[in-house]
Amino acid sequence: MSKTDYMRLLERLYSKIPPRSESGEFRLPELELIRIGEHVIVRNFRDIAEKLKRDPGLVARYLLKELATGGSYDEGTGHLTLTAKISRKTLEEFLQRFEKSYVRCPTCNSIDTRLEKRGKALTLVCEACGAEQSVKPF
Ligand SMILES: [Zn+2]
Repeated sequence: MSKTDYMRLLERLYSKIPPRSESGEFRLPELELIRIGEHVIVRNFRDIAEKLKRDPGLVARYLLKELATGGSYDEGTGHLTLTAKISRKTLEEFLQRFEKSYVRCPTCNSIDTRLEKRGKALTLVCEACGAEQSVKPF
């Protein structure tokens, strides 16, 4: 085999390796919840928002609105406090809903996306395939 053939072979081998992508597997981290009386604290809320590639304040706003509950996100600790007894199951369900509507690209399934605010409209822009999807503002 000549050197050129060998290089070509190598090139072909490398081109078969799929590009690294986070699109397939996506799992929310296990929620670390603390219950204090009527309040629920999500201790690892910042980590969860980072996994979703969204600003924690934004994810918090979505949750508080959709769950119709009071609460606040503390930037210092990264904790989200909800002033209602929300179950783990409900929280997970709404976080998955958020991921489905505001993170995952409906065209190529990538989570390599960003949200853009254009006037009052909210658009999910995919960095992977370039698709744009208008989503419900919250
Ligand atoms: Zn896409």
